[in-house]
Amino acid sequence: MEELKRFIRDIPDFPKKGILFRDITPLLKDPNAFRMVVSAICDRYRDKGVDLVAGIEARGFIFASAIAHSLGCGMVPVRKPGKLPYKTVKEEYELEYGTDAVEIHEDAISPGDKVLVVDDLIATGGTAAATVRLVERLGGKVVGIAFVVELKSLGGRKLLEGYDVTSLIQYD
Ligand code: AMP
Repeated sequence: MEELKRFIRDIPDFPKKGILFRDITPLLKDPNAFRMVVSAICDRYRDKGVDLVAGIEARGFIFASAIAHSLGCGMVPVRKPGKLPYKTVKEEYELEYGTDAVEIHEDAISPGDKVLVVDDLIATGGTAAATVRLVERLGGKVVGIAFVVELKSLGGRKLLEGYDVTSLIQYD
């Protein structure tokens, strides 16, 4: 998996000054690299009885869809506020300055559903932790939380303690 780092492009100061953006588009473009990451996550969770894969807007959708297709289960979009057309539930989370939020359709998950949460990258962990709260508010059981990239120095895993967390490519 370390070798996959050559498919992650570093963009300094994007989307704002001081952020080193880890661009996954070269990985998506390479058929073997894309297949490898999707397969690695699927292999990890194939025997966990996953009912639904919850993908976080927007790059999380790309991986979540491929994983759901391969696992033979459904995909649920977790979106930024105001994007979903039907009735939603919302969870806020802290940013460096202020708050942000994620939403899910209130009927997206049924009590007892086993849910795999997927995003492209974990930084502070706030987005994923808010997504876990959404899933659990609807009665879902989070069987795993999977990321392609983990920025370890930001310590995001601390917000996800007690859950089965997987990341494939780590940066210190
Ligand atoms: P966080 O809630 O801090 O874990 O942020 C995770 C979300 O922000 C993910 O959906 C990522 O796509 C995005 N993100 C945060 N930091 C970066 C970064 N350095 N490079 C690429 N995406 C990032």
